[in-house]
This record gives sequence, structure tokens and C-alpha cells, in this order.
Amino acid sequence: MSGSRFVVAGAGLGGALLAAQLGQAGHRVEVYERRPDPRKSGPAEGKSINLAISTRGFHALEQVGLGRRIRDMAVPMRGRLMHDRMGETVFQPYGTTADHTIKSVSRGGLNLELIRCADALPNVVFNFEQACVGCDPDSPAITVRDGAGSDLEVTADVLVGADGAFSAVRRSMQRRTGFDYSQSFLPQSYKELTIPAAPDGSYRIDPDVLHIWPRGGFMLIALPNLDKSFTVTLFWPPADTAGLDATEDSGKVQAFFMEQFPDAVPLMPDLLEDFRDNPAGALVTVRCDPWHHRGKTVLLGDACHAVVPFYGQGANAAFEDCTVLMAALAAHPVDMEAAFRAYHHARKPHVDVLADLAIANFRVMSERVMSRRFLMRKKLEHVLERLLPSSYVPLYTMISFSRIPYGDALRKARRQDRILKCTAGAAGILAIAAALTILL
Ligand SMILES: Cc1cc2nc3c(=O)[nH]c(=O)nc-3n(C[C@H](O)[C@H](O)[C@H](O)COP(=O)(O)OP(=O)(O)OC[C@H]3O[C@@H](n4cnc5c(N)ncnc54)[C@H](O)[C@@H]3O)c2cc1C
Repeated sequence: MSGSRFVVAGAGLGGALLAAQLGQAGHRVEVYERRPDPRKSGPAEGKSINLAISTRGFHALEQVGLGRRIRDMAVPMRGRLMHDRMGETVFQPYGTTADHTIKSVSRGGLNLELIRCADALPNVVFNFEQACVGCDPDSPAITVRDGAGSDLEVTADVLVGADGAFSAVRRSMQRRTGFDYSQSFLPQSYKELTIPAAPDGSYRIDPDVLHIWPRGGFMLIALPNLDKSFTVTLFWPPADTAGLDATEDSGKVQAFFMEQFPDAVPLMPDLLEDFRDNPAGALVTVRCDPWHHRGKTVLLGDACHAVVPFYGQGANAAFEDCTVLMAALAAHPVDMEAAFRAYHHARKPHVDVLADLAIANFRVMSERVMSRRFLMRKKLEHVLERLLPSSYVPLYTMISFSRIPYGDALRKARRQDRILKCTAGAAGILAIAAALTILL
């Protein structure tokens, strides 16, 4: 199967990484991307400006030789720093060791490195400003349209849909009998704002943490960038609940921020312009089944499992898809259909779990992180992790700092919780029994 001709729709994070992996494995790869070449036009506008990459993502990046390069462009974050309305802060570490940090990386910079890595291979070709406008998953073939409106049909041995949450390739598969599909939106929207570097070129707030201003149904977060700025994201619910509308006038926006995030306002000199000019994004979860069609067409990343960003795992999961898909291709060298089935079987149940965890984590980040109970629990988890490193691992650690499949991580965390509750219960009973023995 080495030497097959792969056509990849989408040169985003997953598509560019897979092109590099397929190219390194000796396949011929053509990538079609609707945006301009970022090497000429600069990073494209899009979802988030930066994103957190953790162990799963770095494992895949290391496989194509980019681990060190991306670590050098990243700002490590060792925990969350929560800001209350009075400007008081509370720190909560992500883990128990120095390497338990998630890395804030520029999305555009990461995408550029992946494209450069893949395009350096003689058997990989990128075609920009070529949008997939039609697709036949049986052939397989796609129709791509260039900037001038001319269409071209491109055939392949295998077609990969890596064209994001609103995938054109997936849309063509949706018409096939037996293909299940669902998308659901959270009521919250998001909007990106900026904390620029201080006038002396330094960071205005701590750069080694993820800042959160949790306010119940909404929150502000800030992730550091290498240029000493922070990308800030406001996640907020419909106007009627938070009293803020995307189209609101500057006075109301200023008043809202002053009331909710008074310590953040002085850090954002361009707040009102950013709020006015930056688009509001939607938060979508996509699920579908199956992710492949007759050994001819296969989906990866957001195209088959977009998740909301509250576990910082969407790109990590897309990268992990690439690792698993490449392993499945290696394990089934002459049978694409078996390879795609193995890939789907290995990934689908786990990213379904991730989708649920990501939705649930909105409440954790926007609300529970400030509660004393939550902070006590996190402390207890870290004490147990230190005392019993081989048997107790907190869920967040397994998701962010290990490659344990998401579903297995959740099962293990639930088992640990049950044991903990029984142990606490037994300890309580023993204490009561001991007290009674002394008294009677
Ligand atoms: C606000 C926000 C914050 C996030 N933060 C994190 C984080 O901290 N950590 C994390 O791991 N994940 C994060 N994510 C999720 C992450 O962005 C995605 O999961 C990841 O980008 C998925 O990669 P992908 O390659 O599947 O899709 P994308 O990166 O979306 O790439 C799809 C590519 O396909 C192209 N394309 C689309 N349609 C066509 C077409 N018809 N023809 C040709 N090309 C096409 C697009 O232009 C794009 O280049 C975040 C997401 C959001 C919205």
C-alpha cells in the first residue's frame, strides 16, 4: 500500500500533520486547502489565535520530527490562576511535577511549521486557494474550485476529509444510507480580545499560567503568547442571561467589563475596538458514524468529531487521530478498509467521551474552579497522586499528560473515585467504632 495516492482536503492542523506522516511513509500526497498559502499571506484568520497543546499532541508532533521546534515556540502553563470580581486570585496547579504543563502555542505558527515540514518532502504537494466544493466518496474524487471560479476534478486512491467542523467531505458521506450525523451548539458564543505586551515589552500578568475570570454561565480566559501578549477569549451566554449582546454599544460593553472583570479592563487598552471588530464564534460538537467509506474515504479531526474547547483537546485529538490512522495503515498494509475500520474502532468511543468531558468542563472552568470544595478536591487528588503514583492518577492528568485513551481514562477515574469514597466511608466507620469502644 506504500506509494498510494492520497488526496487530503484541508491543510489545517490535522490535514497538514497527516500529509507529513503519509509523505514520510512513502505515499504520494496532494493537499487542497481553501485558504491562501500562509507562507505568503501570513497566518490565516480563524478559530483561536493560540491553543494549548499537551502530551497527545506532542507525541504526534515528535513522530514527524517537530516536537523540539514546537516546544521552542510554546509558553508552558503550569496551572490555572482564577481572578474573582474583587481582583483576588487563587492558583491551582495542573499536576504534581515540573513537566505537568500545557503549552500555549500560536495556531498560525504551528500550522505553518506543519505545512513546511510536509511540503519539504518531494512526494507531498500543497494546493492553496482550492476549496473542495463537491465530493464523490465512492470514486473517490473531489471537485476543487480556485479563486477565479474554475473547477477541477481530482481523483485519488484514498480521500481524506480533514476539512474541519463543517467538512464538505463529510457532507457528501451524510447522503449515504447508514451514516449517522449530529451537531449541537452550546448557547455560549466566544470572542477573542487581546492583552498586549506592556510598554516596556514585558508581560502584563503572569505568563506561566492560564488566567480565568470565572463568572458562572460565562468567563474570560487568557493564554500567553511568545511576543509577551495574551490572547483573551470571552465565552458568554445569550444576551438575556449575561446582559451583553455582540452588537452592544461601547458604553454597555465597557460597563459590562468593568462590572464583571474590573482587573482585566486596564490590561486591554483596545478592548472596545477588539470587541467591535472581532467576530463572535459558535461552539459546536459534531458526532458522526462511521468515519470512513468503503476503504476509499476517511475523515479525521474536527471533520468527524469537533468538540468544544474546554478541555483544550480538540487539536490534540486531531493529532492523535493521525497517529492512530498511520498505525492502522501500517497494521493493514494491503487492506484500506480494514485499516479504516481499525482506526474508527480505536478512536470513536474515546472521542465521544472527550466530547462529553469538554462540555462538562465549561461548568468546571466557568464556575466550580472558584469553589473551596473544588480546590480542596484538587489538593487531595495531588496528595494522592504523590503518595500512590502507580495507582491514583487524577482525570485531568490522564487526559492532558498521558496517552491513555479518553474513555479508559474516564473509567479509571470513576473507579478511583469509588475506591476513595469506600475508603473514606470505611475510615469514618472505623473512627466511630473506635470512639464507641472508648466510650462504652
Ligand atoms: C476558541 C477555540 C479554542 C480552541 N482551543 C484549543 C486548545 O487549546 N487545544 C486544543 O487542542 N484544541 C483547541 N481547539 C480545537 C482545535 O482548534 C480544533 O480541534 C483543531 O483545529 C482541529 O483540527 P482540524 O485539522 O481537524 O481542523 P481545522 O484546524 O479547522 O482545519 C480544517 C482546514 O480545512 C480547511 N477547509 C475547510 N473547508 C474546506 C474546503 N471545503 N476545502 C478545502 N479546505 C477546507 C480550513 O480552511 C482549515 O485550514 C479550540 C477551538 C476553538 C474554537
